[in-house]
Amino acid sequence: MKKLLMKVLVVFLVVTANLSAATNNDFKGKMPKYVFLFIGDGMSMAQVAATEMYLAASGTKPDQTKLSFSQFDAQGLTTTYDAGSLITDSASAITAIASGNKTLSGVINMDTTKTKKFTTIAEMAKAKGKKVGVVTSVSLDHATPAGYYAKEVSRGNYYDIGIQLAKSNFDYFGGGGFVQPTGKNKDQKDIYEVIKENGYTLALNNDDFKKLKNGEKSVAINAQLADGSSMNYEVDRKKDILSLADFTQKGIEVLDNKNGFFLTVEGGKIDWACHANDALSSILDTIAFDDSVKVAIEFMKKNPKDTLIIVTGDHETGGMSIGFAGTQYSTFFNKLKGQKISYVGFDTLLATMKKEGTLNKFEDILPIIKENFGLTTDDSKSDLFLNEYELNSLKEAFKLTAMNATERPKNDMIYLQYGGYEPLTIELTHIINKKAGIAWTSYSHTAVPVPTYASGSGSDLFNGYYDNTDIFFKLKSIMGVK
Ligand SMILES: [Zn+2]
Repeated sequence: MKKLLMKVLVVFLVVTANLSAATNNDFKGKMPKYVFLFIGDGMSMAQVAATEMYLAASGTKPDQTKLSFSQFDAQGLTTTYDAGSLITDSASAITAIASGNKTLSGVINMDTTKTKKFTTIAEMAKAKGKKVGVVTSVSLDHATPAGYYAKEVSRGNYYDIGIQLAKSNFDYFGGGGFVQPTGKNKDQKDIYEVIKENGYTLALNNDDFKKLKNGEKSVAINAQLADGSSMNYEVDRKKDILSLADFTQKGIEVLDNKNGFFLTVEGGKIDWACHANDALSSILDTIAFDDSVKVAIEFMKKNPKDTLIIVTGDHETGGMSIGFAGTQYSTFFNKLKGQKISYVGFDTLLATMKKEGTLNKFEDILPIIKENFGLTTDDSKSDLFLNEYELNSLKEAFKLTAMNATERPKNDMIYLQYGGYEPLTIELTHIINKKAGIAWTSYSHTAVPVPTYASGSGSDLFNGYYDNTDIFFKLKSIMGVK
């Protein structure tokens, strides 16, 4: 076993050495004034391809609609392992991308001994006189956005991260809110007060958001948040709720200046949907992410020689595969359209029923399943007709869902089936995904590399196969920062 481990380690190191030798991180052209870095959290090739296949008319034909960034002229593959594991988390992944250093999962911009702090590409851009903006669909103190402004031994120290945001002197923050605005024990100074004291304008509703203008140091938080701190899943978003593209557009308006800017945008809930094996929510959030990239593309059309856009993922989530044993060589992506709600939305619905005492009989839930997932037992001609096997698995899951969480049995089998999520909901997403030809292997991240796309000045450097730390070194060279 030890020998094998050593062998693996040697191969690993050789591969690493080859990768860093093979990629070109040295830029010699005209430096772009405006740099956009988009990160689809949990987004690898399967997430991108599934979205494109969903967008293609029926999904049963092999033709594809391409997302905006899939059409970029420079494309590469990026390894994502961190200092402690082949499978990274978002904290170590963003540390690699933003500071060029590998660290342990859970750590933000500090070394593996948790003593040394790293400087990020966003801080370097700021020091060079550029304006800096950070946009995300999850909370602003979450690992990926925090990776540009915070240095923390643990990504879970939300309040400390929020304080570092307030003191970052960055120019614009947009999207979600804060997980612990008054600290873990709710006994700290309100983070919004600290933000205001540091010279920021706060926009907490659509009117104030609209009023934010060029040059105004600002923190803009979506008026309607799903769980108190992250934006709604796209599948649940009502029309009057601001989108990721809206926050990206506002970022450009606020930041635009003669010295240029660095604006980073995260599609954070692609990851969360994939953790929960909810393909439709992941696909629609990837479309929302693509819409925000389109905003940057429009900006680039006006500043063609001065703009660089990079789109990447920080890791893959869920072990998503296009193709499933039950559907063999066929896919039926049109079937996903039966789903009208995110897994979180359906969980909320179940919780309400439980509270009202109406979640008792399996038969009672069938019409609600039909309404929200299209899955039916009464129409055998339907694409989404539940076969006996599927129906039985739903009954099993319902039994667990109907129990109080504390009474539910806990064992490896239960984990493999439901991954700690609401059993009935996850069984429903599994069934509809498998009918479409999508399957999952994990409720966590995986080690498969991610695609990286680039367009504009300096984009050539992003062709090839390189490590996530190389994204930092390429950007550093392209932006001429130290
Ligand atoms: Zn994740």
